[in-house]
Amino acid sequence: MERTKCLILGGGPAGFTAAIYASRANLSPILYEGIQPGGQLTTTTIVENFPGFPGGVDANTLMESMRAQAKSFGADVRQGTATAVDLGKRPFKVTIDAETVIEAETLIVATGAQANYLGLPSEEKYKGGGVSACATCDGFFYRKRTVAVVGGGDTACEEALYLASLAKKVYMIVRRDVFRASKAMQEKVFATPNIEVLWNCIAQEVLGDGMAVTGARLLRKDGTVFDIQIDGFFLGIGHTPASALFAPWLTLDGNGYIVTEGKSAATSVPGVFAAGDVQDSRYRQAITAAASGCMAAQDAEKYLIAQQNN
Ligand code: NDP
Repeated sequence: MERTKCLILGGGPAGFTAAIYASRANLSPILYEGIQPGGQLTTTTIVENFPGFPGGVDANTLMESMRAQAKSFGADVRQGTATAVDLGKRPFKVTIDAETVIEAETLIVATGAQANYLGLPSEEKYKGGGVSACATCDGFFYRKRTVAVVGGGDTACEEALYLASLAKKVYMIVRRDVFRASKAMQEKVFATPNIEVLWNCIAQEVLGDGMAVTGARLLRKDGTVFDIQIDGFFLGIGHTPASALFAPWLTLDGNGYIVTEGKSAATSVPGVFAAGDVQDSRYRQAITAAASGCMAAQDAEKYLIAQQNN
């Protein structure tokens, strides 16, 4: 059975930064990228707020650079997803793709978070037929067409702005009479003529012709039900951390985020550390994820040194 000093799960900014630091600390880390290599950032286009890139940086390019930097220090970056974990005793056992078991002296969980859906049967039915949680992945298909984005946070606004640059018209379906998004983002939305915000509305049903989305049925707070004609239905209603695998072992908060101790990446199991969006319900930025990956690697290194000295 293969054994490593440091196993990192997750190929986003947190995982790769952990790999850079762990490699430089001679931990010879193995990193498994998971379902979405490059992490959630690869579902966006230009990242304008990552320091060091005054003109912004393409998200995929940024992630490829992080991956290359981790590899340049010797990190063993692999494709694969953890399907089972045993954190009962050290070395921890992590099963990859239900077949390979790796023994790890320390584990860094940087598995990120995934987009939420409303949970409507019709939404499920039209996934891949006009329902999407990634405007930058699927927006291309809606050139000069009409789409809707559900949500009022930064993600929804960013999706709406991106789609507005392609589509003829973008509806935003917002359940309250205010946005949750930052002021800067709101101002951009209000300044975009082909975005119409439908306040106080929830989507009751995605309408379609059996193959593709043709509309949505909305319920306004005053009780009015009405339909809009759309070709695409995009979700921007937040995220769920990818922590289910760890729930039997690690302490999670009420929303499923892994709880870390104070100013550290330590979880409730000594030797297991968490970094990035899987433990951060608040900031959820590439730069904060990267920073917490650095913390996790340093904590893992210190943990191993302390174990040797015991
Ligand atoms: P948020 O939790 O900030 O916003 C979620 C939005 O979806 C809210 O408007 C919420 O409504 C709405 N919503 C949630 N559930 C439902 C539902 N079932 N039906 C209808 N509406 C629903 O998530 P985001 O993904 O937008 O942002 C997460 C974090 O990432 C934030 O900190 C944000 O600032 C950050 N971010 C930053 C970006 C940037 O700086 N470029 C880009 C994207 C995200 P309500 O307000 O009523 O709860």
